[in-house]
Amino acid sequence: MSIASNIQYIKAQLPGNVRLVCVSKFHPVEALQEAYNAGQRVFGESKVQEMDEKHEALPKDIEWHFIGHLQSNKIKYIVPYVTLIHGVDSKKLLIEINKQAEKIGRKVNCLLQVYIAQEETKFGFLSEEVLSMFESNTLEELPYVSVCGLMGMASNTDDSGQIKKEFRTLKNLFDKIKANYPSVPGSFKELSMGMSADYAFAVDEGSSLVRIGSAIFGSRLY
Ligand SMILES: *Cc1c(COP(=O)(O)O)cnc(C)c1O
Repeated sequence: MSIASNIQYIKAQLPGNVRLVCVSKFHPVEALQEAYNAGQRVFGESKVQEMDEKHEALPKDIEWHFIGHLQSNKIKYIVPYVTLIHGVDSKKLLIEINKQAEKIGRKVNCLLQVYIAQEETKFGFLSEEVLSMFESNTLEELPYVSVCGLMGMASNTDDSGQIKKEFRTLKNLFDKIKANYPSVPGSFKELSMGMSADYAFAVDEGSSLVRIGSAIFGSRLY
């Protein structure tokens, strides 16, 4: 199957309100160009230098989403152009993004990564920590950060009941925030959940952004 037909196949399964983030990490510029030629405009990368290089090399109407674990000292490289940072997993990182964004006068869109999996290895806030940030107006003190929603990764398991339960937990938290904090802006509307193996479940549970790599490009060569 070609990259174009894989994208077409996936998009045909997504409801109109769900957007595809084409996860292109570790794949060469040529592969991204092929996806671009098939109409794809949203790409997800997990390494700052790699995203910078691809951003330089490819057409300028691409939306670049950073989906990896962002290190504080590298924020400055991506704030000028990144469309959405999916995996913000600490208050310290939010503060640092705000600082770098203020320097160039550009408001940066972020998602708070919430820990929903059973595994110990996944990064993220606990649900209670997210709620307490909204409770304490922490985000209002960070005018150069726009928190546009939540992101989460389900456990890597064959137990579909478990996966659905984890996505549902994230959706419930998202709904709770919208319902309980009237100060939450209208831009708080994205729920980034679902990857190649589990995006169908994520869509069923209310995802608005699916992050799909291997189902488009095949497996990655690290
Ligand atoms: C790599 C990655 C993906 C894509 O994974 P696939 O299984 O290849 O679809 C999605 N989200 C994050 C955070 C990733 O790091």
